[in-house]
Formats: sequence, structure tokens, C-alpha cells
Amino acid sequence: MKIGILGGGQLGRMIALAAYPLGIETRVFDPSQDSCGGQVTHLHVGRYDDPEALKRFAEGLDAITYEFENVPVDAARHLAQYAPIYPPPQSLEAAQDRLIEKRFFRDHGVPTPEFASIESACDLRQFANHAGLPLVLKTRRMGYDGKGQIVVRADSDIGSACEELGHSSLIAEAFVPFERELSILAVRAHDGATAFYPLVENHHREGILRVSRAPAPEIGLELQAQAERYALNVLQALDYVGVLAIEFFVANGRLLANEMAPRVHNSGHWTIEGAETSQFENHARAVAGLPLGSTAPRGASIMLNLIGTTPPTPAILTVEGAHLHLYGKTPRTGRKLGHITLRGHDFSTLEPQFHALCALIEAS
Ligand code: AMP
Repeated sequence: MKIGILGGGQLGRMIALAAYPLGIETRVFDPSQDSCGGQVTHLHVGRYDDPEALKRFAEGLDAITYEFENVPVDAARHLAQYAPIYPPPQSLEAAQDRLIEKRFFRDHGVPTPEFASIESACDLRQFANHAGLPLVLKTRRMGYDGKGQIVVRADSDIGSACEELGHSSLIAEAFVPFERELSILAVRAHDGATAFYPLVENHHREGILRVSRAPAPEIGLELQAQAERYALNVLQALDYVGVLAIEFFVANGRLLANEMAPRVHNSGHWTIEGAETSQFENHARAVAGLPLGSTAPRGASIMLNLIGTTPPTPAILTVEGAHLHLYGKTPRTGRKLGHITLRGHDFSTLEPQFHALCALIEAS
């Protein structure tokens, strides 16, 4: 079994690492010569708009998947003539544009913050009159890690916010004074079997995920069931195969979907040590047409991202139970360089190690 992965970043790298023990060979496709996936599996360097490069990459592959949602849809559709591509390319279409994504959620029974398409400052004024301030103005495409979005707090900011984001192809959303941010990871196999990981609690700073706790503390059965129902709606509507992540706000005890990622997700990294089967292995299993593994958690896990800098490895490994994953990337401000997972019986037993790791990260 040979699987091709579009994108050679850390997610592709971790899919490759999880696939090998199952006897699944992998290769990654990336425009960059030094993408970190190439350190652990075969790297094909090429452009997404080069049909010959895509053809060479696809040669001999049994299935193709991807590790980021901005893979050009045309490239995915082109590759589908050589090998099945999972998740299906319509998942990319639904996830690449925040407006299409929010409409997709709404049409499939998944609640979202109030939103509207914005093509001018006039549209934004109308939305502000109707939904109130503050609101969040976002570019429809290519926004990630908090980029391409502005919180508009006063009427007088409407014109400048539109100007800053380019006036058209925008989406406005009501600002949600959320209590928590949660995500669910779900997986669907070729035969339609599904499995769901427990909800994860996520903490962001400057729009970037910093810490995840899983299973999210103090989650009732009802909230978990609700998240699973929403994820199932999406999986079925897209005839999905592979791992899917949906990020939610919790407001007044209800889930509101913020966005989805048709791929393995940073808020699922804890599953490597913290679940019976990691998100990466389950993704590889689903894409390869194999049975899914158990998504049951193994105790409590805390995942910390290493962003921009990393503390010295010996210092991290001195902290009992710290599982370190470095991605082999050159340090740069705001860049995800690795993560650490702590796993234990419950969160209270992990607190001392968590604080020790936070102190190391702050000092680095
Ligand atoms: P996003 O790029 O849409 O994932 O947004 C990045 C972060 O901005 C989210 O994790 C939230 O913390 C915040 N955010 C985005 N949209 C909203 C919203 N409608 N209301 C409140 N906070 C938001």
C-alpha cells in the first residue's frame, strides 16, 4: 500500500511516521525543497499547477491525501484521475472559503455565529446595525492562525477595517463572548464507519493554538453527543474519508462552529500518547481502507505547542513524562516548531509538570 500526501509540513510528517508501522509506504509532495516531511519520507518537489509534476508524484500510488486545506482544488481534482483522493476534494471547497464553510454548516444543521457576506463598507454597516458591535471581519480565503481578521469595536472603525482587508470577498461574524474553545476530531472509513475522539479544550494566544487539554475537563455527555452529531452531519454530507476537525465556541453552554479542517489537526496531537489510536494512524487507516482504531483516551493529556523557539531538549526531557516531538524546522517567529504532550491519570497530577514546561517555554 502506497499513500501520497500533499503537503510536506509537520502534519504530513506525522502521518508518514504513523503509517510506516502498518506497512503503508508514503511520499509527500511540496513546493519547498526543505519541507520537514522530507526528513522522514520521500519528498517530491513540485508546483501544484504543474500537471507533469503531479503525474510523477501519483505514479504507483494507491491513494492520495493531504495535510493542509489550501491545496488547490484543481490539483486535487487532477490527481483524482490517477488514484482516489481522500478526503474527497469537495471537502477542500467547503473548507477553503469561510463564507461557503459557514453556509455549509448552516445547511447541515450545525449552528454558527451569525454571519454575512461583505462586499463593501456599506454591507458591513448594515450587518453592524443588525447584529451589533463588536463584530469580527475576516477575509474569506487564506486566513489561518488568526491572520486576515480584525475585531471591529466601533462604528468609526468600519471603513478602515474594510480598507485593511481589501473591501471585497469578506465575511463578517458576530463577536462571540465565548466561555471556552473546544474542538472535535472525527474519522470516517471507506465503509462509512465513524469514530469520535473526546472534545478537546483549546487555548489560543495571538490567534495561534498554545495549549490543548483532552478530554476537555467538565464536559457533559450531552455536549459530547452534540459535537458528535454535528461532526457526523459533516462527514456524511461530504461522503468523507479520513480525519476531520471542527472548532467550536461554547457560548451559553451551546456549541457554535467556528471552522473545520478536512485533515489531521493541531488540537489532535495529544492522541499520539493520549489515545488508543492516534489521529495520524486513524487517518492513515481510513485512507488505506483499513478498519479504524479505538479513539478512547488513555487518561488525561495536555499538549503544549513550541512556537518560534524551543527550550533545550535536555531541559524538556528532565520534566517527568514529557513526550517531545520536534518537527525539524528552522526557528522563526510564530512558526510551529514542535509540541510536548504530558499524559497522566488526571489533570491535577499533571499540573506541576505543566507549570515546569510553561516556565521553560517562557524562558526560551
Ligand atoms: P480563526 O482564524 O477563525 O480560527 O480565528 C482565530 C481565533 O480568533 C479563534 O480561535 C477565536 O479565539 C477568535 N475568533 C474568531 N472568530 C471569532 C468570533 N466570531 N467571535 C469571537 N472570537 C473569534
